[in-house]
Parts: sequence; structure tokens; C-alpha cells
Amino acid sequence: MVHSRNWIGGEWITPAPDELAVKNPSNIHEEIGVLHLSDASHIAQAEQAARAAYRSWSRLTGAARGEHLYRMAAALESASADVARLASMEMGKPITEMQGEVIRGVNLLRYYAAEGVRSNGVVIPASEPNVLQHTKKVPLGVVGVITPWNFPVAIPLWKIAPALICGNTVVWKPAENASLTATLLCEVFAAAALPPGVLNLVVGKGSRIGDALLEQISLDAVSFTGSTATGTRIAQICAKRNIKYQTEMGGKNAAVILNDADLEKTVPMIVSGAYRSAGQKCTATSRIIIESGIYDAFIEAMKKAIDGIKLAPSLDPSAYLGPVASASQYEAVMSYVKLARDQAEIVAEGRSAEANEEGYYIPPIAAAGVDPSHPLIQEEIFGPVTAMLKAADFDEAIALCNQSLYGLSASLFTRDLSYAHRFLDDAQAGMVRVNQETAGVEYQSPFGGLKLSSSHSREQGQAALDFYTELKTCAIRY
Ligand code: NAP
Repeated sequence: MVHSRNWIGGEWITPAPDELAVKNPSNIHEEIGVLHLSDASHIAQAEQAARAAYRSWSRLTGAARGEHLYRMAAALESASADVARLASMEMGKPITEMQGEVIRGVNLLRYYAAEGVRSNGVVIPASEPNVLQHTKKVPLGVVGVITPWNFPVAIPLWKIAPALICGNTVVWKPAENASLTATLLCEVFAAAALPPGVLNLVVGKGSRIGDALLEQISLDAVSFTGSTATGTRIAQICAKRNIKYQTEMGGKNAAVILNDADLEKTVPMIVSGAYRSAGQKCTATSRIIIESGIYDAFIEAMKKAIDGIKLAPSLDPSAYLGPVASASQYEAVMSYVKLARDQAEIVAEGRSAEANEEGYYIPPIAAAGVDPSHPLIQEEIFGPVTAMLKAADFDEAIALCNQSLYGLSASLFTRDLSYAHRFLDDAQAGMVRVNQETAGVEYQSPFGGLKLSSSHSREQGQAALDFYTELKTCAIRY
């Protein structure tokens, strides 16, 4: 039985007394661990530990901090099988996908480790003689990192790794139902001799310790990923306190399929974009906009493809789709399945789970026949449910694509280069792609959205290094 623990100032602390049983979403009768809930006092301790560690950590050279990140990467690589297995059991992502995510975490750590020795400022010619003017990037201080459960390894690491390499220390609050995985990750980093207090983990419920984290301690920055409702609230608190923040939030991502699309290549990408991770990705394809000339052929191909999807327990290596993550996820997604059955036409539906146990399994479905303003088209479902719309031509397709409060990822499928360029120009999303599924982008590329999907900042790559530093303009007369 695994227990969640706090890791504060290098010490392992079990926050008593409240406990919650952690159930395996693939088999809800199997208890895999115990979640111990923190309170405001643990948040205060974590801030103190992070503050105490900041002075020495921020004064290390970037190269020395990079060495620590390389060690963290090596330790995570060695523990990758255990981390992937626990995360898969905790939130239901199929083991093969989870293994890929852990390796992505290893690569993220190595990518940012290397950034420790890159240039961090520019020389700016002064208009007076004998003056050297230059910029330098300095760390912010103590950063609060708040993460969701759907990428329990990659998302925390694409925040923690750049925050640390820039010289910040971190207080990390993971999602409640990714707390066991977060504890194991910190155990791995503790074994890699990360200095005490550089990374501090506080597990617990956001509704209970969120205010302590955001309003009762003095963070220097907050990086949040999660729902638009929570992110908007966090943004308001940070703005009021003048704390630097970034909020990466929900999506309602469109895939647009034009008449000339190569269906044999397109359909597997649509299915993967929509149903991998049981649709629980901020970048999941949840609206499919199809030009009328290819509509019927596309639906036929989707029916076959969805019929071939294997829904099975997350540890089954042949599972394409696992359960959704929790009881609350199950209820929320099933309410949209009911809506689709009551108000739309179900054009394709996958098979039931190949499982002997009772779990939060939802077969993938694709619905059609609703208006563009319908909740199936406008609301983030975060499950294996997509809705389709027919468009007369490219112009109508792009208008439908942009008819959303969200703007995270959008994809076009075509062989026509001029439509490809028009789409990249006109689609209102932070990540626009042609002949690729709606998805996150590689870790060296900026990740983020427009509209209600983001606070207009970006994660990953150089953008993350910009977020986790402050720019100083320096001048020396000699
Ligand atoms: P969520 O409910 O907003 O939770 C996200 C994080 O915020 C969790 O750690 C949560 O803790 C914490 N939290 C909740 N209430 C809080 C409060 N009052 N103060 C401080 N923290 C609080 O989102 P989720 O259900 O975990 O994740 C799914 C959402 O994330 C979807 O909308 C998805 O689109 C979005 N997402 C976006 C991206 C992106 O990069 N744009 C990537 C992945 C996911 P608890 O778990 O304890 O409640």
C-alpha cells in the first residue's frame, strides 16, 4: 500500500490525521494507496523551507544546477517502470502511454539541465563611451506550482525543471488524484540528492489548501495548469497580489477535415487525438468539422476505427483506452454521453471494456446532428466523446473552428498548401497544425493557448525560461 507524503525541506512528513483511500479506476474495488491531506500549516512550512534553500540554490552556477537536473533525469529513467505503473494505476492512463510520458519527463529534465550553461542576457550598445550595458536574467524566488492529474509526470516536470534551472525553489501542490505519483517522483529526486528545500511537495485538496498557498504565504510566482474555472480564480488572486503568474487551462480543440484529406492517414490521427488518454487531454480533439464532400466517407471510416478500439484496464499493454480517472470524472463525462444520446445522433460508438473488474470505463463515442452552439460543441467534456459538424467549404469550416471560447490546439487535414497556410494564419489557437492530430508540442516548442485556454503566457522551451526569470538591465561605467 502506497501512502502520500509531504517532502518539505528534505524531510518526509505524513500530514495527519485525515486520510482518503485511493482506488484504482480500472478496478474500483482495489485500494492502491492512502492519501493524507495537508493543511495550511504544511504550506507555510514548505514556503519557509523553499525560502531557506533559495539563497544557496540561486547562487549556484547554472552548470551546477544543471548537474542536479541531470542526476534527477538519470534517477527518473532508472525508476521509470515503477513511476509509470503507479501513475497508470492511480489515474487510469494506459501503461504504454504512461511509459512514454515518463520518458518525456526524463527528456524534459535533460533539456533544461543543458539550459544551465546557455547565455542568459544580451549586451546592448550604450550611446555614451566607456559604458557597458547589458541584460541579465535573474530567478524570481519561490515559485508555486499547481498541477492537474491528467499528465501526472510531464506537466509537473515541464514547470519544475525550468523553474529550478533558472535558480528558483519550488512549492509543488499536485492534483489530489495524482498525489501518490507525486510522492514517488519526489522519492526518486530525493535519492538523486537534490538539496533539501529546493523542491517541496505538499499533497492535499486544492479546495482546502489552495487559499493558504495563494493568499497566506508570499510566493514570487505561480504556474498553474488545470481547469479554466480554477485558473481564472487563481489569476485574479495573483493579479490582486501582483504575483507573476501563468495559467494554462481548458480546451475545446477542433480538427478540420477538407474534401481532399487523405482519409487513410487522417482517421487514425483523429481517433488518437480524440480518444487517447480517454479524451482527458487539454489538447484532445473534441470537435470534428468535416467538409460536406467527404462527410459520409469520413463517418464510415470513423465507425470502423472506433469499433477497433480496445478499452481495457490501464495495465493491459494492449489497451488503447483505459478508464477515466475517477468517480467524479465518470459522472461528469457520463452526463455528456446522456446528452448525446438524448439530443444528438450517435454516429459511432466503441465496444465496452474488456475487463473482469468494475472500473470507470466509458466506450468512445462520436455524436453529430447538433447546432454549433450546443453544449456538446461548446463545453469541454474531458472524456472520450467527440461531436461532429458539417461545413459547406473551408470558410465555413474555419468560422466554426473559431466559434469557441477556447483556443488551445487546432488541426487541419488537407493536401492543399494554400488552405494549410490560411489555416495557420486564421485558426484561433495557440498551437495550430496541419496533417497532425491536435496535441501538445515537443518540449523545446512553446506550449499554450489563446482565449480562455491560457493567460497568454507559454510553457516549455525558451518561453519557460522567460517565465521563470526576471530581466534586469545593467550598466557599468569604466
Ligand atoms: P482543476 O480541478 O482545475 O485542478 C487543477 C489543480 O488545481 C489541482 O492541483 C487542484 O487540486 C488545484 N486546485 C483546485 N482548486 C484550487 C484552489 N481553490 N486553489 C488552488 N488550487 C486549486 O483541473 P483538473 O481537473 O485537475 O484538470 C483538468 C483540467 O486541466 C482540464 O480543464 C484540462 O483542459 C486542463 N489542462 C490544461 C492543460 C494546458 O496545458 N492547457 C494541460 C492539462 C490539463 P485538487 O486536485 O486537489 O482539486
